[in-house]
Amino acid sequence: MARGWGGYNKVKSASSDFETKFKPGSEGSVVSLLEEEPFAAFSRHWVDLQDGKRAFICPASLEADDDDEEELACPLCDVGDCPNAPRAYINVAVLRPGERPEHAVWEFGASISEQLQMIDKSIGRRTPLTDIYILASSKGSGLNTKYHLEPLYPEDLDEFDVDELTEKQRHSFELYDEELYEIPSYSELDKIADEIA
Ligand SMILES: [Zn+2]
Repeated sequence: MARGWGGYNKVKSASSDFETKFKPGSEGSVVSLLEEEPFAAFSRHWVDLQDGKRAFICPASLEADDDDEEELACPLCDVGDCPNAPRAYINVAVLRPGERPEHAVWEFGASISEQLQMIDKSIGRRTPLTDIYILASSKGSGLNTKYHLEPLYPEDLDEFDVDELTEKQRHSFELYDEELYEIPSYSELDKIADEIA
């Protein structure tokens, strides 16, 4: 994440509306991870304001800078508002039969995170996660949605009628980074905290 409060003012704002989001369908989707680990992870506060519900990234949920281990302060946590469970964000290429690979951001919570780590543990020691493919499927809807991930090797892709991602395709994507998400300034959160306290 952007480091320190100074960096927070520099994050790009409007960009978060434009990224393509990947959601595994019930029929199963094949993706290639474009990086070994999520580029961002954080929790959000959902706050009822006069003009409706608004989400704010919780600064206390951001990974602290290596040089500055101190946890970042969050005025909303300080007034007792609980952020939601952390979500992680990773760059993927979605592979569909007869289509070009599509660059997208996959946002996920604990269940997918655990499954990815299991896959990484079982095969990642020998093969980087970026060299295999993931078959992701969902079951159910809303809060009852369950996700299932399965590792696929290049030789398994025929079964799904998709081609391996070429090195050229892989490098043609401009990966999103933490600047995709707007991190509110301390003073903005402080004002909101006053409003809801
Ligand atoms: Zn917070």
